[in-house]
Amino acid sequence: MRGMDAAREACDMLLPQLAPALADVSLPELEVPGGPGLDAFRKSGGPGLLVPAAYGGAGAGALQAARVSRALGAMSPSLGVATAMHNFSVASLVALVASADATGLEWMLIEGIARDRLLVASAFAEGRTGAGVLDSAVTARPVEDGYRVTGSKKPCSLSRSMNLITASVALTGADGTKELGVALVPAESAGISRRPFWSTPILAGAESDEVVLEDVHVPEELMLRPQIELGTGLDTLQTVGFVWFELLVTSAYTGAVARLAESALGSGKGSATDRAALLTGVEAAIALAENTARVVDEGPVGNSELGAVLTARYAVQELLVTAADRAAELLGGLAFVTTPDIGHLLAVSRALAFHPPSRGSMAQALLDHHVGAPLKVR
Ligand SMILES: Cc1cc2nc3c(=O)[nH]c(=O)nc-3n(C[C@H](O)[C@H](O)[C@H](O)COP(=O)(O)OP(=O)(O)OC[C@H]3O[C@@H](n4cnc5c(N)ncnc54)[C@H](O)[C@@H]3O)c2cc1C
Repeated sequence: MRGMDAAREACDMLLPQLAPALADVSLPELEVPGGPGLDAFRKSGGPGLLVPAAYGGAGAGALQAARVSRALGAMSPSLGVATAMHNFSVASLVALVASADATGLEWMLIEGIARDRLLVASAFAEGRTGAGVLDSAVTARPVEDGYRVTGSKKPCSLSRSMNLITASVALTGADGTKELGVALVPAESAGISRRPFWSTPILAGAESDEVVLEDVHVPEELMLRPQIELGTGLDTLQTVGFVWFELLVTSAYTGAVARLAESALGSGKGSATDRAALLTGVEAAIALAENTARVVDEGPVGNSELGAVLTARYAVQELLVTAADRAAELLGGLAFVTTPDIGHLLAVSRALAFHPPSRGSMAQALLDHHVGAPLKVR
């Protein structure tokens, strides 16, 4: 499949050691917590993928990153999802380096991420349905030299392997007013612990357990305070973060379904019409994400680009379900019962729907956006 050839080429060019390191590892071995995927990603320099070359990284752009994310999703869906969390956090930090809000620490952080191969978790969800990822119940209490952060984040991918955490928090100002903050916290800080949370074998290799923060000290300069734009519910940096997140996570799931599709196409089973329908569905999903990646590479990224990437993501969500169904049917019942991979990838093909913002929560906002309103994300 041409779209997957491009994905593998990008991965081999930017992270040449990764695919060879995992070539002989089976899907069940990769999809468990503690599997070899994240370690191989780290050893191949993956943490620096989106760090500009001037700061010691591979300096990948959005199109290259989408392709690598697709290749990783095909290699191991768990690795694809977990690294999407890392990469979008890094993309946000890179955007911050260039912004007027930069404190001067950010460039040291991204340089450290590339140099020391650090993994960055993104802790926004709190296990409360309908709460919205920007609606945090984790509190940050001001103290003399910064903040004390307390609460729980779940699910939080990379919970075992992370070196740094970016976490949304509710800041309480001296006058008692509440605002959203994003804390950058070293994972080894006193007061951080992990609890088992992820109880399905699907995507278990992403290590999406609970991270508990108990009175964790965060210095003032490591607490970002987004300036929300009127009407959107987001600041410029959050918009950039969301755009990258949707792009990368959509690409990771596309890769996972493409693996199933390539296997069905390679089997030669079914009619040419059935196989061509499968091929066009997956290539269309790839093209939708790549189109928005090109828009991101052209820059700058704002509310319209967020609308475009979310529209593409929801369209891909449907394409992937149809493609996975078709691929499994073409492969047939004997293939389904004699390997765990097909059932696993079928389940994975549904999980793009579980990433924020859910289609239901954005339906009215998308309709309003397409008749001219700013896209509001909750
Ligand atoms: C593999 C995986 C890894 C993850 N890793 C991370 C991570 O590292 N960090 C992180 O922060 N999060 C992570 N998440 C969690 C994710 O961010 C979501 O927050 C979480 O899955 C939300 O689940 P929920 O059932 O509460 O969904 P919700 O989206 O809250 O809602 C469930 C249902 O209610 C509907 N609904 C909700 N709100 C509305 C509304 N306003 N109007 C209409 N309908 C609505 C939705 O459409 C949906 O059908 C991960 C999720 C997955 C699947």
